[in-house]
Amino acid sequence: MKSIYSATQDELLELTLSLGEKKFRLTQLNEWLFKRFAYSWEDMNNIPAAYRAALAERYYSLKETLEIIEVAKDPATKTKKLLSRLHDGELIETVIIPSKTRNTICISSQAGCACGCVFCASGMNGWTRNLELGEIFGQVILAARELGEKPDNIVFMGVGEPFNNYDNAIGAAKLLNSGPPVGLGIGARKITISTCGIVPGIKRFAEEGFQFELSVSLHAPNNMLRDQIMPINKRWKIDELMATCREYEEKTNRIITFEYTLVDGVNNTRKHADELIARLRGLKCKVNLIPLSPVPEYPGKTPSEQNCEQFGAYLLSHGINTTLRRSKGKSVNGACGQLRRQAAPKE
Ligand code: SF4
Repeated sequence: MKSIYSATQDELLELTLSLGEKKFRLTQLNEWLFKRFAYSWEDMNNIPAAYRAALAERYYSLKETLEIIEVAKDPATKTKKLLSRLHDGELIETVIIPSKTRNTICISSQAGCACGCVFCASGMNGWTRNLELGEIFGQVILAARELGEKPDNIVFMGVGEPFNNYDNAIGAAKLLNSGPPVGLGIGARKITISTCGIVPGIKRFAEEGFQFELSVSLHAPNNMLRDQIMPINKRWKIDELMATCREYEEKTNRIITFEYTLVDGVNNTRKHADELIARLRGLKCKVNLIPLSPVPEYPGKTPSEQNCEQFGAYLLSHGINTTLRRSKGKSVNGACGQLRRQAAPKE
């Protein structure tokens, strides 16, 4: 059994015809899946019961793929976190981040994460399994149901490292980008894949020449510090990572966004800013500065607003396109993976 969103059109057509149904039944099914955002088989009320029953024997509907068990809302920012249960009981998070002009959805690609970045709640209970394509894609349908419309932007920045689940994450991104009628028709440049620095993943992504955006979580400008806060750096050192980012830029001529979480007294001094500037020199890029969203398990503190602003202004004064992001989810367990971690059984 797998999610209906993991099924290919070829296999659904073959099944449809083998059941003695006409091809237009598949058109109707696609309409329920990609346009009307059906939650359960029962919702699809213009499709014959026998056809629905045959589908239900083979596939999970959205309800069984991602059963919503909690919706946490922040009335001030209107950010919503959806906590969903997968068919095997695993929990994942999806976040809806509205702004005046667009709705952004932050989706998960794995149940847990093996990368262990120290300030991230997602990795604290380790990795359990990769999400299948339909479990990744289905999160956007859940969000679309909440919003009442297709979202504008998708970021693969929820629980998990997308390049450790490359085929399913990129498969889901392709389905988001394709269509209609199969897919959501979201522009490739509105879909961002975010990695903590999986070098072979970045190379493959560059080779395959997608138009999706790439974001790299850097968080530290040197090996000593990056080793401490991002264990992935022990596998792929920052020099190799940055060289790969330069290769990516040469191959694709695309801008990379570097994410840099500011932690007080850890990576937010003038010396760190100078090292970061040196790392990025000559590279077409943007930097997103993110003041730390505290998690109980990590003692790091959020720097003062003034420090964050100064750090950003210093990068800007050195010609680096920099944005300071404000946390939009503090009152809804804003840090990635926090809601999931609270709901998970304690060890
Ligand atoms: S920040 Fe991303 S890569 Fe790092 S542990 Fe969290 S989910 Fe994994």
